[in-house]
Amino acid sequence: MNTGAAEPSLALHAPACPQCARPMQAFDLESHYGREVATDLCPHCNVIWFDEFESVRLSGLGWVTLLRRMQAAMEGGAAPLKPQLECPRCRLNLKPVHNLTRFGRFASLECPRRHGHLQTFTLLLAERGLVRPLSHADLKTLQEEKRTPCCLNCGGPIQGPGQCSYCDSPLVVIDMPRLMAALLIRHAEVLPEESAQRVAWPCRGCGAPLEPTHTLRCEHCHHAVVVPSVLDLRPVLDRAEEALRAALPRQARPAGEKLRLMRGDPRATGFNRFLRNAFDLAGDGGPGGLPAWVGWGLLAGAIWFFWY
Ligand SMILES: [Zn+2]
Ligand SMILES: [Zn+2]
Ligand SMILES: [Zn+2]
Ligand SMILES: [Zn+2]
Repeated sequence: MNTGAAEPSLALHAPACPQCARPMQAFDLESHYGREVATDLCPHCNVIWFDEFESVRLSGLGWVTLLRRMQAAMEGGAAPLKPQLECPRCRLNLKPVHNLTRFGRFASLECPRRHGHLQTFTLLLAERGLVRPLSHADLKTLQEEKRTPCCLNCGGPIQGPGQCSYCDSPLVVIDMPRLMAALLIRHAEVLPEESAQRVAWPCRGCGAPLEPTHTLRCEHCHHAVVVPSVLDLRPVLDRAEEALRAALPRQARPAGEKLRLMRGDPRATGFNRFLRNAFDLAGDGGPGGLPAWVGWGLLAGAIWFFWY
């Protein structure tokens, strides 16, 4: 039967979740310079698998896609990770890595054969420095907003700072300025400042527009900005995506193109040009040419000038 024949390629693209064995969702994320990174996400366990072993540097659009996928997964809860999980590619036991301790104990698991690594949503955001620990002040702000504080990883309700009682994830909130800095990058270039202003969202205290790239507190009512869930990001993601899609690819600069053609040729460097200019004055200047010591003198003068 050919139903069995189709399975291996399916498994290659969407492996079974190491935690719950259900098929993961495969999708590509844009990284810097428009390169695509293959990713698999389990919406039941809120874990994400990267084939790339190294930490992936996502572009703004990559983050928009990923955060939307996380939002969809947040509709359900998530169980704590089992202590022993297998690599979805080779079935060897994944090895825990303990290099991230800033926010407490996280489950980051790597394949010993370097097939990739598995992360929870919170770990992924924490590893990129896009979250901060949830504080008592944050809880007070959420109380003022009459919102139920929830775990960023599984969406479960929480009581106080520390660890989530449902999924064991450390309790963190999104660090808005840092997230915006990661979001507003296209083709490895930061979008112009007016794009950040267009991404403005309303203050939860008074409704005045906040500029999320560096606002931690509303200018008008002094209400603090607390973002406990990726679900809060919906309006920001929509506007950021618009700005990102409008960004044109970086233009090839004439100097860069010239440099590329002259690769390996020392004449392409700025220092060489400076030297040549100095010695052209002195060198084959014809009848009106200056003696060589003028060039050397200029060079010595320049070195003295920059040194002191
Ligand atoms: Zn799963
Ligand atoms: Zn493996
Ligand atoms: Zn949780
Ligand atoms: Zn306000």
